[in-house]
Amino acid sequence: MALEEKREKRPPVTPMMIEEEAALRNGSRGLPPGPWAEAAGPRPRTTERHIAVHKRLVLGFAVSILALLAVTMIAVLLSVRFEECGAAADGPPRAGGNGSLSGVARQPHGAGQPPGRPEEDARGGEAAEEEEEEEEEEEWQRRRELPPWARPRLPRHLRPLHYNLMLTAFMENFTFSGEVNVQLEVRNASRYIVLHAHRMHIEAVRVAEDKLAGGVRVARTFFYPQTQVFVVVLNRSLEVQRSYNLKIIYNALIENELLGFFRSSYVLHGERRFLGVTQFSPTHARKAFPCFDEPIYKATFKISIRHQATYLSLSNMPVETSVFEEDGWVTDHFSQTPLMSTYYLAWAVCNFTYRETVTKSGVVVRLYARPDAIRRGSGDYALNITRRLIEFYEDYFKVPYSLPKLDLLAVPKHPYAAMENWGLSVFVEQRILLDPSISSILYLLDVTMVIVHELCHQWFGDLVTPVWWEDVWLKEGFAHYFEFIGTDYLYPGWNMEKQRFLTDVLHEVMLLDGLASSHPVSQEVQQASDIDRVFDWIAYKKGAALIRMLASFMGHSVFQMGLQDYLTIHKYGNAARNDLWNTLSKALKRVGKSVNIQEVMDQWTLQMGYPVITILGNETTDNIIDISQERFVYDSDTKPKDPARGDNSYLWQIPLTIAVGNTSHISSEAIIWVSNKSEHHRIPALEEASWLLGNINQTGYFRVNYDIRNWKLLINQLTRNHEVISVSNRAGLIDDAFNLARAGYLPQNIPLEIMRYLSEEKDFLPWHAASRALYPLDKLLDRTENYNIFNEYILRQVASMYLKLGWPTNNLNKSLVQSSYQHEELRREVIMLACSFGNKHCHQQAATLISDWISSNRNRIPLNVRDIVYCTGVSLMDEDVWEFIWMKFHSTTAVSEKKILLEALTCSDDRNLLNRLLNLSLNSEVVLDQDAIDVIIHVARNPHGRDLAWKFFRDKWKILNARYGEALFMNSKLVSGVTEFLNTEGELRELKNFIKSYEGGAAVSFSRAVETVEANVRWQRLYKEELFQWLRKSLTQ
Ligand SMILES: [Zn+2]
Repeated sequence: MALEEKREKRPPVTPMMIEEEAALRNGSRGLPPGPWAEAAGPRPRTTERHIAVHKRLVLGFAVSILALLAVTMIAVLLSVRFEECGAAADGPPRAGGNGSLSGVARQPHGAGQPPGRPEEDARGGEAAEEEEEEEEEEEWQRRRELPPWARPRLPRHLRPLHYNLMLTAFMENFTFSGEVNVQLEVRNASRYIVLHAHRMHIEAVRVAEDKLAGGVRVARTFFYPQTQVFVVVLNRSLEVQRSYNLKIIYNALIENELLGFFRSSYVLHGERRFLGVTQFSPTHARKAFPCFDEPIYKATFKISIRHQATYLSLSNMPVETSVFEEDGWVTDHFSQTPLMSTYYLAWAVCNFTYRETVTKSGVVVRLYARPDAIRRGSGDYALNITRRLIEFYEDYFKVPYSLPKLDLLAVPKHPYAAMENWGLSVFVEQRILLDPSISSILYLLDVTMVIVHELCHQWFGDLVTPVWWEDVWLKEGFAHYFEFIGTDYLYPGWNMEKQRFLTDVLHEVMLLDGLASSHPVSQEVQQASDIDRVFDWIAYKKGAALIRMLASFMGHSVFQMGLQDYLTIHKYGNAARNDLWNTLSKALKRVGKSVNIQEVMDQWTLQMGYPVITILGNETTDNIIDISQERFVYDSDTKPKDPARGDNSYLWQIPLTIAVGNTSHISSEAIIWVSNKSEHHRIPALEEASWLLGNINQTGYFRVNYDIRNWKLLINQLTRNHEVISVSNRAGLIDDAFNLARAGYLPQNIPLEIMRYLSEEKDFLPWHAASRALYPLDKLLDRTENYNIFNEYILRQVASMYLKLGWPTNNLNKSLVQSSYQHEELRREVIMLACSFGNKHCHQQAATLISDWISSNRNRIPLNVRDIVYCTGVSLMDEDVWEFIWMKFHSTTAVSEKKILLEALTCSDDRNLLNRLLNLSLNSEVVLDQDAIDVIIHVARNPHGRDLAWKFFRDKWKILNARYGEALFMNSKLVSGVTEFLNTEGELRELKNFIKSYEGGAAVSFSRAVETVEANVRWQRLYKEELFQWLRKSLTQ
């Protein structure tokens, strides 16, 4: 799965008043991106709750039956009535009139009722059943065991081998009915069949021994909502090593939300069209059919979908046959899948059209999207790179793509950027459709990387699947790492893995993982409600950073060989992290190296956080340096999350690369494994004026600090001839220095002194690193009295490069993008900084471009800086510009353009407009549900709107939590986005009070928010004045 990336649009900074610009108002700020979520709306009462309620009613009646034997028959009739009422009130979905099962769906049977028994028998048996249930519970209690249905994981006594799943989708009333036949293998004898099923209405259950005709009698069935399972209790035990068939007939809703089998819609020629699509990862297949919904239960699947002939249906495999009926219905029978887990099974019912291509090895690739997008060719870019990427992965992994086809499906709404379903990957439109005539490089990059990510999963995740969710970081870390490797294959000049990986992955996740409230990348989880929690940036980005560190200390070719072995050994199966470590250790051994990879990697994956290495030149002994490690934390006052284990007990085995340099030369790097708190090492050729540089090219997941003398030597080197130090290390020094200072490991002036060399820096990456590192600092200062001193300092650093580079004059064609990516991105970065901090020329340029657009109604603003120009225009100019952008937001149909127009609206410094926008953001007719979160977060980044967004968030928390709560990633993004820049004592108090009043939901995000705000407040208290003093002095020099 791809989460929403934070990469691109980073952040404009804050505005400052410039007197001459009274007519123009303030500077602009950030235009970062965001995720999509979809409204879940108020949750309907779930089926099992409904069932529990009506079962209680039935049981109540059964008691009366015993008390009043004489009126047994009447009571029975009444209880039937009650069931009917219950079902009609808010009950399970009704299949429409067209379906073959519709008659069955109207049966008043509750889930607790096995099929095939005479009604009287069932009623009369309720009391007996209750007794039986109590006895069973007591029996489990005596054995001091949880009953099999109450355990967080499915009991291991059964294994599904094959599923036959037949579905009928009623798109006119958004319901579906299904019949699933599961072939079961028995490993331990048991009377219970426990499998996942959630929010569905079960009509009938039958169990039969495979080879024999006779059924196994079902004693009773029930849902157990706490663990989202459905339990079939049999009259006798299933026997070991026999195979049985479980048949379940059920129906459910195609819900208007984001998970399970859900619906969404779009408008074509003025008419609303609907589609149904699935999102099963991680635990939502159980909402679409009863199944063993854990990744370890791999089985084969044969799916059939019956739908009206005006729609088409898709699934993981190609259609084998289609059977048309006279009444306008059709059943598509799909080929059988290979062994796979439930979470990447998928289907869709839609009336999309497609374009297709074929890879060298014969895999048919199709892109399905709404017909107007296909006609415009918006899917062609994705289709083209997908074909090339399949060829790339087949060659890199030396394992062919496993299925005959791969469909990419572009849907209007989705909880994630995309999902890697095997053979049918689903993407939200903004992450796959691309109009070359109006897309920036960043947009192209986003689309590219999401596709590279999902394709990697066809091998890492789908072909070889993690045993359990604690290792989800493995599949996600790999896919995220390969986003950069795969993009380098498509665009060799971009150097993504060596460059942008640092700013977008490494620097980004170190911000999060430097909090005491972080968590290890490998997290133990059991409950379904916890499983969504593991899909976070720590899993994705730290996972990727650790894999990159591993690849670099192993050597890339050995690493690649190891991966090939791993995929070959485990294909169509499951593997845990130790399986990977073992395979990689063996690959290393084959080239004569011996590293215990498991031992090393366990420290990085099972411990949270990361180390800061401090390298001190030893002045008394020549050529000896002291190297020490400690856990890096932003706020050393925070109590460790695990009080039993102080920060002192954290230790890592660190592959530290180190080089020595002097004014014109740098030595080749040496690798030192640091595994103790502190060590001495001999460094050859360490002369008086030479400096030390650690973590060459930032391949390691840690920070490096030095004594002040060494920092000064490095600064001196950067100023005199920065090219002696590599581009990645220049970016690394900037990021380390800013963050070490923010956490108090380093004086505040060091990062600002490093920045001074940037006027000579012609590479994009160090500018990008500086711009990203300045962002949080800017947010700490943007509402302070002396903000203009800081602002002035930054403007001075940017001015000369801004003049040198100028503005882009025309739009880029594709070949130009390829060759001048670095240059265009650098120019964009510098323009963003200049406009954000109030460079006068930059403001005028933006205002001129906007005015030209308004007066000519032709948008001639260069694509790559449109977001900056829109945002600057909105923040500087009057309300008419806001209204103009608002109008354009409504009228444009291009998804990329719509998004940046919406984000520009948050840049206003007019609080009335910001409030209006916040209130509109929750209206699904105006702002797509998935974009509302971004609106709120962007208003919070604007210093004029921070308190408004914070108040809005608190006022609307109940609504927001109901909307996004289940898609936990979106919720935690919202919480951190709204709170991360709060930095006063008052705001900290408000935050704590708010959390007190809403205990429960989103607890992890809130504890992270509190720690972040505490660190912000602490920084203000301890370091703000020190920073301003240095800035004052520096500006007068
Ligand atoms: Zn993924």
